This record gives sequence, structure tokens and C-alpha cells, in this order.
Amino acid sequence: MLIYDFTLEALQSDLKSWGEPDYRATQLWQGLYKHLYDTPNQFTTLPLHLRKKIEERFTFHSFESLIHVNSEDGETEKVLLRSDDDQRIETVLMYYDKRRTVCLSTQAGCAMGCVFCATGQMGFHGNLSRGQIVEQVLYYARKLSQRDDQVSNIVTMGMGEPFHNYDATMDALDILNHPDGFNFGARRMTVSTVGVIPMIERFTREGRRVNLAVSLHAATNELRDQLVPINRKYPLESLLRACNEYVSLSGRRISFEWALIDGVNDSLEQAQKCSDLLKGLVCHVNLIPLNPTDGYAPSGASQVTATTFRHFLQSHGIPTTIRLRRGIDIHAGCGQLAGLNWK
Ligand code: SAH
Ligand code: SF4
Repeated sequence: MLIYDFTLEALQSDLKSWGEPDYRATQLWQGLYKHLYDTPNQFTTLPLHLRKKIEERFTFHSFESLIHVNSEDGETEKVLLRSDDDQRIETVLMYYDKRRTVCLSTQAGCAMGCVFCATGQMGFHGNLSRGQIVEQVLYYARKLSQRDDQVSNIVTMGMGEPFHNYDATMDALDILNHPDGFNFGARRMTVSTVGVIPMIERFTREGRRVNLAVSLHAATNELRDQLVPINRKYPLESLLRACNEYVSLSGRRISFEWALIDGVNDSLEQAQKCSDLLKGLVCHVNLIPLNPTDGYAPSGASQVTATTFRHFLQSHGIPTTIRLRRGIDIHAGCGQLAGLNWK
């Protein structure tokens, strides 16, 4: 059993059933998440008999790293991981000044079928467990710690739709947030969803403190139905209602992602409709020129178009930024992760 699948309480009850006092589970937890140990014999605060039992009961790795690549500019790296049940997923690390952002996967493949996304193009291959989601962060945390560096931000923008694997995703973020362990601030985590409305509502109800981003991409149902098929089930009016409810109940800002596609969703008409949709909402829009994928022909909008689109939204009172394209040479950009097509 993968040890990161266990909450502290679950470890406590396991160790208790072995006759161990509660503080042993805390020591184990701190070894895992403060010291980033990944072999039982590193837990020198634990007695030998306990380390042996831990070794028998738990595994510390569900993934094997198959290939690791760095982008030419050195600002992005990604790893291809194979799970013990033979799923292939990818995890990305991005460097922006002092920020070290892990972009993690929540599923192998994705069932949502967004036409421009390489993960969507490969279809759904399975959910990751909470421990497998946690392990991706630990992978880079260990790597960075060798250079006295650490992860500063976590985003669920790798493979998969986190709100189609809600429990595992949220449990993983809770584990990483635990004050006695990894102690990673909720404000430095962002969950990005394509717009699975019941789960946005649940996220709001649960009073989650992690940031929420919604992938919008189009401001009319006609266009969004084509790009993001789940829109047929969860159309824009209901999506925006759920977003407004989140903002008013949480008092938090919401982000929207918009992949700008040349001649498809980059017109001023879409920008106008977008600003109508978002009017009065405390939000931020991230524009990203579409990254190329094998299964979708149109290209990303030009820098000029992106700037015009941004100016339009900004002049209508919507804070908007153009996201830098990252890691394209290693297929590590948004929507390029497919776990297969390695150069
Ligand atoms: N499933 C979630 C999170 C993973 S995708 C979601 O869709 O939000 C992360 C982001 O990459 C999303 O905003 C998604 O719309 C965007 N994306 C997908 N394919 C892309 C591409 N080819 N170019 C740029 N962004 C893309
Ligand atoms: Fe899935 Fe997100 Fe890609 Fe859409 S954009 S197919 S929801 S990973």
C-alpha cells in the first residue's frame, strides 16, 4: 500500500493497532513530509522493529520515473512517470523567478475531450489515487531540496480533470497542507477545472481555501460546445452562476483560463461577450496562446491578437494577463501532456 494514500489519522490507527503510541505516527508523518524520506531506514527516530513493519506494510513509490527532460531555456522540466499499474503520466516543474511551480496530473488521460488538448485527445485511462497525486509533488520537492530549494506553488494543470477525481485531488491537497507535515499553504495551490458544475458547488460548500481556476475558452455556448464538449452538459449560464456563487460565498477571486486559438475564439466579438459574461465578477483572466497538439489543426493566436484581446478585456474592467508559453520544446506546455509522444 502506498504510504501517501494514508492520512495522519489513518497512520495513527494503523500504528495503534500494532501497539504503538500516537507520537510514532507523527514521527513517521514528519519523516515523510518534513524530511522527505522515501526509504524506511531513513526514519532513524523510529525503532528498528517499527521500521521493519513499515517496510512490510507500505510502499514509498508507486511511480518509476522513465524519462526526464529539461527545456532548452532551463525554465521548465518534465518527467514521465509509470505507475505500478502501468499508467503513464507526466508532471511538470516550472521556474519563474523565485517561484517553483509543480504542475501535477490528477488522472491518466482525460474523459472531457476538449478538442485542442493532447490529454483529451488520448481519452480517459484512469484516476490517480490521492497518494499518487501527493507523490508527484514529493518527487520535485526531493529534487529541489538537493539544491536547497523548494516547491512554492502547486497547480492541477497537468493531465486530467481534477473535478472528475474530486475526492482524491482534494484529499491530496489536504495532505500537502497538513501543518505537521508538508505544511504547504492553501493559497499557493490552484485547482483548475473545465467546469464540472456540481463539483464547483461542492468546492464552494466545503469552504475550500485553495485557489479556483475555470477553463472558459469561449463566451457563447455555440462555440464552447465545440471546443469543450462538457459544455453541452454544463452550459455557460449555469457555469457562471456557480462561479458567481463561489465568489460571493468565499469572498475570493476566481480565475478564468482562455486558450487563444487563431481565428476560432480570438475575435473582439468573443472578447465583448466574455466581458459581458464576467461583468461584476471578482475575477482574473489568463490568456494563453494555444499550444500545438497533434490532434488539432488550428494554431495559437499571434502576440498582437493576444495583446488586443487583453486590452479589450482590461478596458472593460477585467484584470487580464497573457501567460508566458512554457516548455513547448519538450511538449510540457498547457494541454500538451499525453504521456506518450516523447521526442
Ligand atoms: N482539466 C483541467 C486542468 C488541466 S488542463 C482544465 O481543463 O482546466 C490545464 C489548462 O490547460 C486548462 O486551462 C486547459 O484548458 C489548458 N489547455 C489545454 N490544452 C491546451 C493547449 N493546447 N494550449 C494551451 N492551453 C491548453
Ligand atoms: Fe481534460 Fe482539461 Fe484537457 Fe479538457 S483541457 S481534455 S478537461 S485536461
